[in-house]
Amino acid sequence: MSSKLQRREPLQKRFEKKIRKDPSGCWFWIGALNGADYGIIAPPGGLGKTAINKHARPLLAHRVSYELYVGSIPTGCYIDHLCRQPSCVNPQHLEPVPPVQNCLRGSRTKWSDTKVSECRRFRTEGRTLFEIQDITGIPHQTVWTYVSGSRRRIPLAGVR
Ligand SMILES: [Zn+2]
Repeated sequence: MSSKLQRREPLQKRFEKKIRKDPSGCWFWIGALNGADYGIIAPPGGLGKTAINKHARPLLAHRVSYELYVGSIPTGCYIDHLCRQPSCVNPQHLEPVPPVQNCLRGSRTKWSDTKVSECRRFRTEGRTLFEIQDITGIPHQTVWTYVSGSRRRIPLAGVR
């Protein structure tokens, strides 16, 4: 009667079975964790050979929690744990954080490609980030993200 997909429980039901509400207020994930101690859960279409999408990857439980109980996560944002417990999935302990680069820009300023390549050229000429800031008007932190490779993450240590 029931196909493999019908047999699969809805995401929210599966999610709620995997949490242990701690007196501290944290909802600890008792399901699988990834290498960074974040809870993971199979996507609605399933994982592996029986999945709709064979390349489906596990979802991060805290992101699922935010989307189930709060709302959709703004594009590009990651979810920060206010309680500093990576395996906590209490939506009240979660906060979307925009990408660091956007924070540093402070506005929606999008620097032109010309400006970005200017930054890189000045850098190869041996100028400091502050000199480049003075010349181009681009904040030195942003200059750093451009000259150090666009995909490189900025270490967050010391921010809080
Ligand atoms: Zn928590």
